[in-house]
Amino acid sequence: MKKIGIIGLVIVLLLVFSSPALAAWTNRQTKAHEIAEIARSIGLGENDPIIKRAQEIWLEDYYNSPQPTKTYLGTYYITGYDICYSCCGKVDGITASGVKARVGRTIAAPSNLPFGTKLYIEGIGERIVEDRGGSITGQRLDLLCNNHSECYAVTGYYKVYIVK
Ligand SMILES: [Zn+2]
Repeated sequence: MKKIGIIGLVIVLLLVFSSPALAAWTNRQTKAHEIAEIARSIGLGENDPIIKRAQEIWLEDYYNSPQPTKTYLGTYYITGYDICYSCCGKVDGITASGVKARVGRTIAAPSNLPFGTKLYIEGIGERIVEDRGGSITGQRLDLLCNNHSECYAVTGYYKVYIVK
């Protein structure tokens, strides 16, 4: 890394922490991390006020940033589908919500879970409710997959949470 002088470091610090406009514009947490890294690279120790202040800023922003909350919904039986004719009765890949189905994002859920609901499925990850299905009622979900072998592989019971 290119070494910068202590003057340069102080100027960076002043710009980042003193200008409200700039502070709002930049990601303070990322900048604080970068400043600590620069300070270390020019040989400042962990007890140096610059590094200590950068760590404070980083922690402040870490604890102030909203953490997503997960609410347990229950155990769901999850099957897989792809956009083939036998799964969907059509091949345009357009979901019931109107958006194009995308593997890694789309899941079909019962209508008590509105379109746009973000679900966290243990062992699978986050998906967005974008589709419906005739057999998808109660504790059932249908996960969009790339092909039928993925569909078979994914089928099973999973713990499901709503992410807010
Ligand atoms: Zn299919």
